[in-house]
Amino acid sequence: MIKTVMVIEDDNDIRKYINTLLLDIGYSVVEAPDGVKALDLVESRRPDLVILDLGLPKLSGESVMTEIRKKFPDLPVIILTAKDDVTDIVKGLNLGADDYITKPFKGEELIARIKARLRHLEHNGTSLKVADLELNTKTFEVKRGDRIISLSHKEYELLQYLMINAGRVLTRDMILQRIWLTADYIEPRVVDVYIGYLRKKIDQNSKKLLINTVRGFGYVIKE
Ligand code: CA
Repeated sequence: MIKTVMVIEDDNDIRKYINTLLLDIGYSVVEAPDGVKALDLVESRRPDLVILDLGLPKLSGESVMTEIRKKFPDLPVIILTAKDDVTDIVKGLNLGADDYITKPFKGEELIARIKARLRHLEHNGTSLKVADLELNTKTFEVKRGDRIISLSHKEYELLQYLMINAGRVLTRDMILQRIWLTADYIEPRVVDVYIGYLRKKIDQNSKKLLINTVRGFGYVIKE
């Protein structure tokens, strides 16, 4: 099936450039020049992936990101920001963006990121694997080697989020926003508590520890 990518960017030149890149490799493209139009089009066109510039007229990229996450929790979003604007990047990721790319960027780099995200999505239909840990998103079964692990609903969601992002550090805020949604009313420590539960079930009695703490930042699952 042809994938549809939505490009939300007010700079006409950049938007047209991305559009041409994507059409060249066979994607269908929807363009939005401002935040309001963007949200309308996400609803009506249901893209497979969104590229979102954070500096937008009418409605900010941050607000667009928040709205998209509320309505479409699994829609992959890659944010575009000015080079080296670390605050923007962190803000975007905390709001639930899946990846980011800084301007100016190379066409090949953007395409590689898009393809990686869409591949993830296709694999999500069946099972996620990190070392000998396996999570089946159809049967909700989780196994470490031959051992079947029973998880609560929140533990499962948290593990799935970590595994989709295997190898990538997730901040407490990112996890809160994605798993607990109403992050304003929840103690960030709940993330640590749930990571503790998961560790007990997944890493205890295993030689290889998969859930790692990145001090002062968050957590990552990796081999
Ligand atoms: Ca802009």
